[in-house]
Amino acid sequence: MNPAADIPASVRSELLDLLDEVRSLPDERPDDAHSRITVVEAIETGLEGNASIGALIADPDGRVVLSERNRMFFPRFRSDLHAEMTLLTRYENEHAPKADLRGHTLVTSLEPCEMCTIRIINSGVTSCLYVASDLGKGGITGPNRLAPHWARLAEHQNFAAADCSDRLAEISLAAFEATIGGVIRKLMARRLLEGS
Ligand SMILES: [Zn+2]
Repeated sequence: MNPAADIPASVRSELLDLLDEVRSLPDERPDDAHSRITVVEAIETGLEGNASIGALIADPDGRVVLSERNRMFFPRFRSDLHAEMTLLTRYENEHAPKADLRGHTLVTSLEPCEMCTIRIINSGVTSCLYVASDLGKGGITGPNRLAPHWARLAEHQNFAAADCSDRLAEISLAAFEATIGGVIRKLMARRLLEGS
């Protein structure tokens, strides 16, 4: 944990409540078990001062081989370390030189952004499921269209909402929305400091 996480007490309290609830929910839908792991990762990294997003890779038999989380601000600032990026970088390093993700599924607690969508396409993972949609803003349901070469590669992959309980998706989105404002403020503060 990050002892110096600079998050408001109200946000910490909300995240802890969500963590209790997500751990107590019964598994009802086929993707609930995987979804829950990503949402727990998401809430825990929110408590560390990062944006609340978690992700995992499951093998063709559904076994979780790796789970990770957003690490943009903790343990140090790294602008590329969204949850999916952290996950894929670690997987590719640990499984070099092949890192073959055919038949595997990447589950993320929130619909991936444009950067992560392209990284997921490049990784060659067969399926990408997201627990909560980032409607109108994410890399899948948002307004931006993929360039033709990315779109061609993505034809061989499945991007879809996870088949999970509605409450899990609500908790995932609530955790993200509780933390994203603070992250944007920290990014803005870095700019103001660097410009002065
Ligand atoms: Zn991203």
